[in-house]
Amino acid sequence: MSRKPLEICTFDTLEEARALLSDGKERIVTQLNPSTLRRRAAMVQAGAFDFDGSLAVGSQWSHVKAMIPEALRDEDNADLRWYLEWAKEERVVHDSLDDRNWFMGNGDHMNGAAIEGAWISRSIQRFIDAGMTRANFEEAGNKVQLRKGAVELFRQIPLRVIISMGLEQVIRACIDRYLLSSAIAATRLNFGCDGRLVGYHPNVVVSKTKKVALNRFMRLNGLKAENHLIIGDSYIDVEMMPEHSFNVWILPHTEEVEGIAEFREARFESMLRRVTMVLYSNSLEPLARLLQEAKHSTSV
Ligand SMILES: [Mg+2]
Repeated sequence: MSRKPLEICTFDTLEEARALLSDGKERIVTQLNPSTLRRRAAMVQAGAFDFDGSLAVGSQWSHVKAMIPEALRDEDNADLRWYLEWAKEERVVHDSLDDRNWFMGNGDHMNGAAIEGAWISRSIQRFIDAGMTRANFEEAGNKVQLRKGAVELFRQIPLRVIISMGLEQVIRACIDRYLLSSAIAATRLNFGCDGRLVGYHPNVVVSKTKKVALNRFMRLNGLKAENHLIIGDSYIDVEMMPEHSFNVWILPHTEEVEGIAEFREARFESMLRRVTMVLYSNSLEPLARLLQEAKHSTSV
């Protein structure tokens, strides 16, 4: 692990936070004083991790979609663009019944989970049409890179779950390569006897309902909210974080998943107020070190 001192910066105002989160220097940014942050970090016994952009670098979908024919990939990218446009139009009102987009054109959170479920289903149908196999998904998982420090972070947390609007088998192949174990909540693919993709389990996992999996993880492990670390990189992850858990927003300073930055900007302040700390880094190492040092300092 890096021997650089852990830089913990506190802020009072939004302007201070923006300055600390815009100069490209790796640091932990928080409203708490450092000793309170460490005391809270020492309580962590279980962790819930978003996958794409949080535990892993970039998007697992890019590795899967690279394996399908270009025409199918173009269709899939069109779905992504439509979703991003739809979500942006939350406040745009097509308010005339003469407008054929009076319903279709309005981004409304209420229908978000249904749309995300349909989107993932359409993508999987394209993977079926492309003749993809179990081996293809495992190969995609083998190409996904975990962030630096992910292995060290896992070692600090005895109970773990990955909650992702991704694919269970891709995530499993990825973490197996790093010799890591974790419960996973992500959409499960079904394969035929010949290894070909034939479908998926209907209990799909989408961004808007990640909290369902999080609640179940918390209930099954029996720990209190304050014993949980929750980490995510998107506003949807941040919105699902319980009030009293140790909530981490990872904000990488040199890479972005498509579409994330634009959404984040509109919600910057509400995200900031909701999290325990922002990890302004491409690496999970500072967080792993914070947990390690916090546990050490309270046990001696
Ligand atoms: Mg993410």
